Amino acid sequence: MTSVGILNCSNMTQDIGCSSFGCLDSVNQGTGAFERYPDGAELVGIINCAGCPTSRAPEKLLNRLRTLTEIGVEAIHFSACMLGFCPFRGQYKALIAEHFPSVAVVEGTHAIPEGAAGEQLVAGMKELLCERRTNMAEYIKEIGMMNS
Ligand code: SF4
Repeated sequence: MTSVGILNCSNMTQDIGCSSFGCLDSVNQGTGAFERYPDGAELVGIINCAGCPTSRAPEKLLNRLRTLTEIGVEAIHFSACMLGFCPFRGQYKALIAEHFPSVAVVEGTHAIPEGAAGEQLVAGMKELLCERRTNMAEYIKEIGMMNS
């Protein structure tokens, strides 16, 4: 079995509450990007991205990834959502190659629907990310606990 870790996108896990169920199902079933392992994949760790790093500090991801490399992953999978949403993927891939040369990078986890279904999924995720929510300041004002 190949020991793998998954890096997923904080926007999805922290903001819209993805529990990584699609990625985990894919590992368990040996489907999607996990079909490549003839003897199966053992998921030994999963971690969120450190958050969008701006164009200047993609290295902030390295501390997160170290938690996977320290436990001996042979491959790090970028979650399926990263494929559609993360503009830093290429930089992350290059950083992993430079700092953890023995670890393979695989782009993707579960299969992503193609065509109209795929577009609908991405549009829905964008909507969830941008949905108007009441913030704390608005709430405090609303209940009359803030002057002005
Ligand atoms: S850098 Fe990429 S993976 Fe990380 S939070 Fe931003 S979009 Fe998501």
